[in-house]
Amino acid sequence: MTEPRYLTASSERRFEATVDRMLDDRVVLDTTLFYPEGGGQPADHGTLSVERGDGDEKDGADATDRWRVVDVQKRDTVHHHLEPAAGTTGMPSEGATLVGELDWERRWAHMRYHTAQHLLSALLLDEFDAKTVGNQLSTEYARLDAAYERFDDEDLALVERRMNELVDDARPVEWYTMDRETAEATLDTERTRIDLLPESITELRIVEVGGDAEGDDPFDRTACAGTHVSTTSDVGTVRVTGRTTQGRERERITFELD
Ligand SMILES: [Zn+2]
Repeated sequence: MTEPRYLTASSERRFEATVDRMLDDRVVLDTTLFYPEGGGQPADHGTLSVERGDGDEKDGADATDRWRVVDVQKRDTVHHHLEPAAGTTGMPSEGATLVGELDWERRWAHMRYHTAQHLLSALLLDEFDAKTVGNQLSTEYARLDAAYERFDDEDLALVERRMNELVDDARPVEWYTMDRETAEATLDTERTRIDLLPESITELRIVEVGGDAEGDDPFDRTACAGTHVSTTSDVGTVRVTGRTTQGRERERITFELD
């Protein structure tokens, strides 16, 4: 099993790892910072590289083999899909030590959008009793589906204003694990979306957005395995860009970050 370091070291972008297995154009590493697509958050991109060590640096040529990580998927473990960069042929060797580097601009955008989505989900519950039933984010915008009949312009303006207040508050965002029994006994299971998780999951990762003063109850706690920024101020200004209906009792809200 690949150690999923993206879950704990969410602010790190460079790492070393050993190749456990090669499966055609996919590599399995002993540890990774690359986030596999899931929970509405796209996969990380970036590179993996290895020093060739053949001393072939004539004419300043690069003695490094490099692969672009073009997709990351979680199967039995994390699969990184590779494409050789210019000048590299073949795939990494099993047992080799590689240096991984994330496309940080992409990941940072995903972390900001994902954190913003938590704020929006919490506000929709607080203000409209509307549960989040789906979400998808990108580097450019995000959308969230909520169980609700119809939001009007005033509703959207309220949500946007409240989201920006939470951003201005610079609330801390933290993540930690909690066993399911404790979580079910102490947290609001609907709010944390624990009720959506398969029974087989016995340890939960909770993402917590802090209250507005130290010692206050948290603003929100949700079970989530994505990556997030560590303060709401990193989200930046939120613009709610619209809504559409997705059928009865299902509204889709789209938003962008500056
Ligand atoms: Zn999340």
